[in-house]
Amino acid sequence: MNQITVLGATGSIGVSTLDVIEQHSHEYNIFALTGNKKIPLLAEQCAKFNPKYAVVVDAEAAADLVSLLTQNHVSTQVLVGTDALASVSSHEDVDIVMAAIVGSAGLIPTLAAASAGKKVLLANKESLVMAGNLLMQAADKSGATLLPIDSEHNAIFQCLPRDIKSLSKGGVSKLLLSASGGPFRGWSLGDMGEVTQEQACAHPNWSMGQKISVDSATLMNKGLELIEACWLFDVTCDQVDIVVHPQSIIHSLVQYVDGSVLAQMGNPDMRTPIAHALAWPNRITSGVSDLNLAEIARLDFEEPDLVNFPSLGLAYEAARVGLDAPVVLNASNEIAVQAFLDGRIGFTQIAEVVADTMAHAIFKEPDSLSGVQESDKEARARSAEIILRVQR
Ligand code: NDP
Ligand code: MG
Repeated sequence: MNQITVLGATGSIGVSTLDVIEQHSHEYNIFALTGNKKIPLLAEQCAKFNPKYAVVVDAEAAADLVSLLTQNHVSTQVLVGTDALASVSSHEDVDIVMAAIVGSAGLIPTLAAASAGKKVLLANKESLVMAGNLLMQAADKSGATLLPIDSEHNAIFQCLPRDIKSLSKGGVSKLLLSASGGPFRGWSLGDMGEVTQEQACAHPNWSMGQKISVDSATLMNKGLELIEACWLFDVTCDQVDIVVHPQSIIHSLVQYVDGSVLAQMGNPDMRTPIAHALAWPNRITSGVSDLNLAEIARLDFEEPDLVNFPSLGLAYEAARVGLDAPVVLNASNEIAVQAFLDGRIGFTQIAEVVADTMAHAIFKEPDSLSGVQESDKEARARSAEIILRVQR
């Protein structure tokens, strides 16, 4: 029986993960579940999966959760805080950790899982963007296996040659990262000035949490994924091409020196990469329906639009600069996306805030976790100041 901790169990990826696990309950057992605000859902999940521990971030949420669990005679023990998130990620009884907390809050528990040698199913791309070096080193040292959940990276992983450390030795010439283009594909910056939170979160193909939905609309998501790919597959950003493919059927591709291009395809449903990574190197069912190519009928491709989606260009810049530029990019984006979701700034101001924050940053090497945290904190403070100046 594999023992699993699901970080971010109440989110979009968390719920899909529990759906796959429920289909294979004779092979996977839940050790711990974590959540933040959705306490009734977390209580329901505890009643169903009966984990040993449930972790929440603050004391008030913990009190609410304890009361719901007691009412329903659920014996799950409730823990609170970041240290508890790290301890259920690194606990000796745990085999697999699904890292599906959104944003920088996922960094500490993800790093704890990687340092403890777990099989880490990595959805929380922000932790790689912030601390790719530390995470990859921790996994190397402990023997942890990092398996990408992000559909594009999971696709690339599936199309790469097995057991080859250096991609060039395996004959790989390029990684082709698919992008749907988001809800505003084909729009001009002027058209996007007044879009609402609902419009930005209404992704044409995927149903996801709010933050990644807004990132998909600005194309910052693809920028974060570019940096994620560089760390996961040990390539430079010039070895990754972004191809816009509006149907989201081809999840990404790998090009080989002989002209072969391998693609991974499937319906856009995160249960496919989740099931793939859970069972890897085996395969299990996911509940995703079979791909009907005749019904899909056509697959389209185009170049990304860097003019009307400046966030993507900013991510390229951060990837090329290196140092702590990705930390600054990520922190500033998190603050700006939240300000947009709170109605304080407009959609196109997200990229303006990030650009302004990046323009005034003095980049330095973040050689430790505390260095990363310091850069993160400084960039957040700078972005918050910019937002105060420009907000509506
Ligand atoms: P959601 O917003 O749906 O879920 C986020 C999860 O993190 C929830 O369980 C939430 O708790 C929890 N959480 C939020 N803030 C904190 C915090 N400060 N401390 C601890 N836990 C917190 O996000 P998604 O599931 O969409 O995304 C999760 C991660 O996976 C992101 O990094 C995203 O980029 C990545 N990803 C998601 C994809 C998708 O299809 N959704 C695809 C590819 C990658 P609560 O809900 O209880 O408040
Ligand atoms: Mg993705």
